[in-house]
Amino acid sequence: MKNPVDLTISELRQLLDMKELSSVEATQAYLERIESTDKRVCAYISVTAEEALSQAQQADETIAKGEAKSLTGIPLGIKDVICTKGIKTTCGSKMLKDFRPPFNADVMERLHAQDAVMLGKLNMDEFAMGSSTENSAFFRTKNPWDLERIPGGSSGGSAAAVGARLCAGSLGSDTGGSIRQPASHCGVVGMKPTYGRVSRFGLVAFASSLDQIGPLTRSVRDCALLLEAISGHDPRDSTCLSVPVPPYSEACTPGLNGFTIGIPEEYFVKGLEPEVETAIKVAIDALSSQGAKIVNIRLPHTEYAVATYYIIATAEASSNLSRYDGVKYGYRAKEYSNLMEMYKKTRAEGFGPEVKRRIMLGTYCLSAGYYDAFYKKASQVRTLIIQDFKNAFEKCDCIAAPVAPTTAFKLGEKVNDPIQMYLSDIFTIPVNLAGIPGMSVPCGFDSKGLPIGIQLMASHLQEEKLIKTAYNLESALNLQGEWPEP
Ligand code: GLN
Repeated sequence: MKNPVDLTISELRQLLDMKELSSVEATQAYLERIESTDKRVCAYISVTAEEALSQAQQADETIAKGEAKSLTGIPLGIKDVICTKGIKTTCGSKMLKDFRPPFNADVMERLHAQDAVMLGKLNMDEFAMGSSTENSAFFRTKNPWDLERIPGGSSGGSAAAVGARLCAGSLGSDTGGSIRQPASHCGVVGMKPTYGRVSRFGLVAFASSLDQIGPLTRSVRDCALLLEAISGHDPRDSTCLSVPVPPYSEACTPGLNGFTIGIPEEYFVKGLEPEVETAIKVAIDALSSQGAKIVNIRLPHTEYAVATYYIIATAEASSNLSRYDGVKYGYRAKEYSNLMEMYKKTRAEGFGPEVKRRIMLGTYCLSAGYYDAFYKKASQVRTLIIQDFKNAFEKCDCIAAPVAPTTAFKLGEKVNDPIQMYLSDIFTIPVNLAGIPGMSVPCGFDSKGLPIGIQLMASHLQEEKLIKTAYNLESALNLQGEWPEP
């Protein structure tokens, strides 16, 4: 029999339901692989082996009773920005190094309700700010396809763990590309759902009008299963939509007849690596061979997206992160002589350089006299970007474009050049600003053997269109089953 770590969630589900494999066995197989392989990949901040095995036991009992749901007994990894009751949730920051939330995030409650298994918490850029996971306060996660390269970020641990088969699937968060870009760099499927599709209750806030939790998996069907499990209304997040959750995996059906895919010319610009461009074009041809009609579309305000995002996201972050003052929870400086000094030292010692840079940028944008010039202007441009997508979706069902201009770069290559790092988010940010769903699907490799992802975008709550398109692409390209051995 195959090693359980080589199976997709859907394959595991079958074996678990047929009692050919137990969740305890699957969980043990993953824990062993984490033990032998994570030394090199460094995806996990904490491995919760004991809890995982007891959850697996519980899952096996549920399966025995014939009450299994789609994720019962499936071993998953969770980005360390998602609150897990009593289990350290560090956000990749010294500020929350020892923080044990007294509650579970809504997505965790949903996973627990299905008796899914959590293997541990995954590394990330501090407070989800970054594109390479090098901003983690603890250590750098490596790309499982080439250990000298970054896995992408900020959900680098979540993507590397799925690619390296250190969990069957994972959850990440995406504010400006943090699920899609690492998914693309690690050769896995990743989706940022529509803003409001998944509750943000218990997601440590970065930029509240942009943040969204989503799945990373090794197949499109698995992505649909995980999305279905975490979606749904939650009164504790006032931006969470009260709309029914469709059976997303049922969108995995062959054929794209009657489907129109739009190609935005603004996404094929200077700076896009030729090998990435070629792979995207091959994928677009594959979509056409499945019956889709391909049309050219325009998203004319794309060039303003990075500037807009780095005003809105930093403004929101500066407000959200003001809560880390050493009083209620989190890190507190050891030596101080008065309250003001305690605040200052706590924040100076607790936050890393990128987080401080964002707080300063955001505070500046919101300050008296600058607010209109920066924040207000950015909000107006955001409306133009939303309108761009509205116009585009009158002509097509899905948009296909690159996820990132390059494949995974070398560790250290961009750490000292924040502007270069910010610019690499150019293709993922517009989706967050517009609140629409976006997905990264593996579509090939460059000549160095590094994975390339194609980005699919759809209108609000049209995740099923993404899944259907992605499923057809996955079958047409037949790339599934190629995994690295780090
Ligand atoms: N790379 C982007 C940033 O640094 C996006 C991060 C994210 O989506 N969390 O802000």
